[in-house]
Amino acid sequence: MPIYEYIAADPEKSCRICSKGFELMRPVDRAPLEICYLCKNPVKKLVSRVNTPKLTKPLSVSEAKSKGFTIMKRRDKGVYEKL
Ligand SMILES: [Zn+2]
Repeated sequence: MPIYEYIAADPEKSCRICSKGFELMRPVDRAPLEICYLCKNPVKKLVSRVNTPKLTKPLSVSEAKSKGFTIMKRRDKGVYEKL
């Protein structure tokens, strides 16, 4: 059974489980989860871990910048700061 990862669509309105994301084993033929079991707020599915190549270590901000990525950090609701 694949493991799906879900995270709250709006973490500020959601419970502490889904605001940080959670994993769920779910049969492939089952419709994707749309709301959190606990707080009933909308959740979205993250890319399944099964098909994701494992990263040996997460990219640091400076590494990402050197590869041309722009790092955005969430400061406030809808406000992003360019680092
Ligand atoms: Zn929740």
